[in-house]
Amino acid sequence: MDSANLKLRRREELNGHRGMVVWFTGLSGAGKTTLARALAERLERAACHCVVMDGDDLRRGLCSDLGFSPQERAENIRRAGEMARMFAEAGMIVLAALISPYRADRARARALMPAGDFIEVHCHCPLEVCEQRDVKGLYRRARAGEISEFTGISSPYEAPEAPELRLDTAKLDLAACTERVLAVLHEHAVFSRGRRP
Ligand code: ADP
Repeated sequence: MDSANLKLRRREELNGHRGMVVWFTGLSGAGKTTLARALAERLERAACHCVVMDGDDLRRGLCSDLGFSPQERAENIRRAGEMARMFAEAGMIVLAALISPYRADRARARALMPAGDFIEVHCHCPLEVCEQRDVKGLYRRARAGEISEFTGISSPYEAPEAPELRLDTAKLDLAACTERVLAVLHEHAVFSRGRRP
């Protein structure tokens, strides 16, 4: 084993888990951020190293120069994917919550990671329910024509064909969704033996 690999193993041993990416995709209001934060809390309580990458946050800072055309969305996801890879390579469990409506963009983010280290979670929620929740008041504004290219209203959402996990967030509550994601992480042997967040 070369020294870089040894270093990686040693860090995984110290952290009690390996670095990887959990990528939440879905309509605005589907529950991506809520779920990513709930998971982070759960993982942190078990002393796991994790980071939440929230799409709204990124758009306020790193990606504030980008709009919502397909090309700009692709660039937004490219940057997020690269950032997720860097955090994962530093040993963290990355919880990335981005609408990421295009399959091709998500596939590019996935391709940056080794097989098994990118878990795509589709937060599935009918548009009507997201619109009813209207957590940020954006649907109302999109319907009023104040926001253009709004996913689900005036811009497409391409649902994943084969995500590692599909959660029906209109039917399952937050606790149940959190457990499902954790179960998939265990299936993918993300944690060292004995570590059970
Ligand atoms: P997104 O990040 O996808 O835009 P948010 O997490 O900001 O969505 O908002 C989702 C809303 O739906 C929150 O008000 C949350 O409390 C609610 N919600 C209801 N059920 C769930 C669930 N199963 N998982 C996550 N959020 C849920």
